[in-house]
Amino acid sequence: MNDEIDDEIVEQYQSPVKPVELSKDHKFSFRCHPEVACFNACCKNIDIQLTPYDIYQLKNHLGISSAEFLAQYTVPFEMDSHGMPGVKLRHVSDENPACHFVRDEGCSVYTMRPTACRYYPVGLLSIRKEGSPTDADSFFMVKEAHCLGHNEANELSIEQYRIEQGVTEYDEINREWRQIVLKKRSAGPAIGKPSVRSYQLFFLASYNLDSFGNFVQSEGFKDTYLLSDETYTQMETDQLVLLKFAFRFLKQVLFGEMTIPLNPEAESKRSQRIQSTNVE
Ligand code: SF4
Ligand code: SF4
Repeated sequence: MNDEIDDEIVEQYQSPVKPVELSKDHKFSFRCHPEVACFNACCKNIDIQLTPYDIYQLKNHLGISSAEFLAQYTVPFEMDSHGMPGVKLRHVSDENPACHFVRDEGCSVYTMRPTACRYYPVGLLSIRKEGSPTDADSFFMVKEAHCLGHNEANELSIEQYRIEQGVTEYDEINREWRQIVLKKRSAGPAIGKPSVRSYQLFFLASYNLDSFGNFVQSEGFKDTYLLSDETYTQMETDQLVLLKFAFRFLKQVLFGEMTIPLNPEAESKRSQRIQSTNVE
C-alpha cells in the first residue's frame, strides 16, 4: 500500500467531506449537548459501521448474545470490492433511517455507543506510508450543515476530544483488527479472491464473539490447535481475552502468521486427507 489515503477507510467514518489530514494536536471548536437545536439530528439518519469491540460492548450492555445483536440491530455490507464482510447499525425501517437506540432524551446506549458515534465530527484515517510496515492514525473533520455543534465556543484538540469521548480504549482494542482489515484489503488483488471460508471465519471472529467462543471450545478446534488448558479457561471466562485471541486467529488463518501451534497429529491427518484427495 502506498501513502495515499485509503478512501474506503474514510468511508468507514461516513464523511461527505474531502479529508484534510490533521494531527492529534489540531484544535477545533465543538460541543454537542441536549440544548443544541439540532440535538439527535445525526442519530435520525445514520450510516454507522461497527467494530468488533463496539459489538462486544453493545451486546453485553443489552444483555443479549452477539448472534442476537447481529440479527436485531445490524445489517451486513461489503467493506471492499472483494466482499470483505462488515456490519452497520440497522435503520429503524426502510422508510426511517434513524438509529434504533435514539430517544427524545438522547442516545439510550450512550455509555456504550460505537466508535464512529464517539468520534463524530472527527474522522479517523489509517494511512501506511511507503516503506513503513505499519499504519499510522491521522484525522479529518466532518462539517455537515445540520450540525450546530461547530458553532459552540468550546475549543479542544483532537486528542483531548478523543479522551473526552472515551474513544482511546476503543481504538486500542480495535487497532489490531483495523490492521488486519487494511492488510487484507491491500493484499487482496495480489493473492487473488479470498476464499468464502476465510471470510466466514473473518465474520465469526470479528463480529460473532459468542459463537466464536463456542467454536474455540469445540472438540474439533482443540484437536487441531495446541493450547494450554489455562488459555482455554481464560478465553471461556474473559471475552476480552477471547477477542484478542480472535485477532491472533485471524492473522494465522488469513496471513499464515503461525502463532497458534498446530497439533502434529491433526496436521498429519490433514496432509493424509489432502494426499488421498489428490490421488483420487
Ligand atoms: S448534529 Fe452535531 S450537535 Fe447536533 S446532536 Fe448531532 S453531533 Fe450533536
Ligand atoms: S448509537 Fe447512540 S449515538 Fe450512535 S447513532 Fe445510535 S443513538 Fe446516535
